[in-house]
Amino acid sequence: MPIYEYQSESPGVRGESCGVCSKGFELRRPVDREPLVSCPLCKNPVKKVISRVNTPTITKPMSKIDAKKAGFTILEKRCDGNYEKL
Ligand SMILES: [Zn+2]
Repeated sequence: MPIYEYQSESPGVRGESCGVCSKGFELRRPVDREPLVSCPLCKNPVKKVISRVNTPTITKPMSKIDAKKAGFTILEKRCDGNYEKL
C-alpha cells in the first residue's frame, strides 16, 4: 500500500488547520481509493504532496564518470550528427 503525503492547502493562513495537517502528514491508502481531499481531523482542504522519497533531488549534475559507474551509457553527439558511445 503506497504512502501518500498530504498537507493543508493553506496552513496557518486563517488558523483553521489543525496541528496535523498544517505540518503535513503521511497516510497509507489503497491505490483504488479516492484521493484524500480534506483533513480527517479538522476537515480543512488538504492537497497531496509529492513524496520526497520517490523524487530524489539531484543537487549536483552527474559527471560522466559517475554516470558510467551508475551503469549509464554515455552518448555524445558528434558534429556529423552521429552519436558516439563513450
Ligand atoms: Zn487538519
